[in-house]
Amino acid sequence: MKVILNNIQLKKIIKLNQNIGFVPTMGSLHKGHKSLIKESKKKSKKTLVSIFVNPKQFNDKKDFINYPRNINQDKSILRNLKVDFLYLPSAKEIFPKSSKFIKKINKKDKILCAKFRKGHFEGVLNVMDRLTYLINPTNIYMGEKDYQQFYIVKKYLEKKYKTNVILCKTIRDKRGFALSSRNKLLKKSEIIKAQKITKNLIKIKSNIKKNLNVKNELENRKKELEEKFSIKIQYLELRNKNSLNLSIKKQNSKLFVAYYLNHVRLIDNF
Ligand code: AMP
Repeated sequence: MKVILNNIQLKKIIKLNQNIGFVPTMGSLHKGHKSLIKESKKKSKKTLVSIFVNPKQFNDKKDFINYPRNINQDKSILRNLKVDFLYLPSAKEIFPKSSKFIKKINKKDKILCAKFRKGHFEGVLNVMDRLTYLINPTNIYMGEKDYQQFYIVKKYLEKKYKTNVILCKTIRDKRGFALSSRNKLLKKSEIIKAQKITKNLIKIKSNIKKNLNVKNELENRKKELEEKFSIKIQYLELRNKNSLNLSIKKQNSKLFVAYYLNHVRLIDNF
């Protein structure tokens, strides 16, 4: 595996390699990231993984500081997976002084996480725009776990570049709880709680039936979960997966959730 530390090295490699599959990450890799990499290796000639904890997408400075980092373990995981290239840029390489930033996402997209994390998706789009420009990948692999991120990034990048943004399914633990680097910040008892919450959420989705007042139902279930598990839920919403408009039927829809377990913010969709 070749480790790329700067853009001069990167440019040389990009010139020599076509059909690159790109997996952008913030490191602290787990089986979710691994599945994206495996997908890329199946479909692309070469696979490039980036690890960059993007300061611009953290609306909370503490969250950025506490974000789990484990570069040595990450390198060993990537070597075992036989990844071709690991790109480890610095913030200066990604955001040079001359860069022009995307200031605002569309008003229509200011829902779910965009509503609660001010500037988050602007930060995501800025880093993805820059990485796509530098790497020129044929395909980019992103996880369903962060569906709204996938949705916004795909719309933006496929309009601007000749690249395909490919959705990869969410990898979960044996009790259905979605894997995430942030899970490393949870205690064992909190993981057990999150697994129970997940089970409840799956049931809520499967209980959405015709003629149900979905808005009221979800409002009630939200309060119930908050009391039962002593958590704060930011949103629990059923939305159409193609438009992300609020939905009243299960068909073509996803149930989106974001909640705080103590100080750790978790998101998922079903
Ligand atoms: P992150 O390192 O958290 O920024 O995630 C990098 C990529 O991995 C994103 O496209 C995520 O959606 C994806 N990802 C994170 N967790 C999972 C998971 N449990 N299953 C599948 N993909 C995931």
